[in-house]
Amino acid sequence: MNDLECPYCDAELKVNHDDGFGYAEDESHEMECDKCEKSFTFQTHINFSYHPSKADCLNTGHHIFSEWKQLWEHEGISTQDRECETCGKYERRNLPLSTK
Ligand SMILES: [Zn+2]
Ligand SMILES: [Zn+2]
Repeated sequence: MNDLECPYCDAELKVNHDDGFGYAEDESHEMECDKCEKSFTFQTHINFSYHPSKADCLNTGHHIFSEWKQLWEHEGISTQDRECETCGKYERRNLPLSTK
């Protein structure tokens, strides 16, 4: 990732990121080649990567919910929530507490 090639002699160079050097995007940074000792500039392009996963529930409407979890009890009502493991769809319900 941090390697670049000298535009003059094609030497493989490492960018020294001490003090965060070279991380700012769309800025010209100056560097000197170790081999041919010519100066050149480079720009940093940060690549974002995406990791797709299937989300069947978004296509079929069948969500894979976790178990209901109780959030709190208040005046005989239990408030619970659960979340779809795939898409994060959130549901909350209020249940009357069974009287003992
Ligand atoms: Zn060079
Ligand atoms: Zn879902």
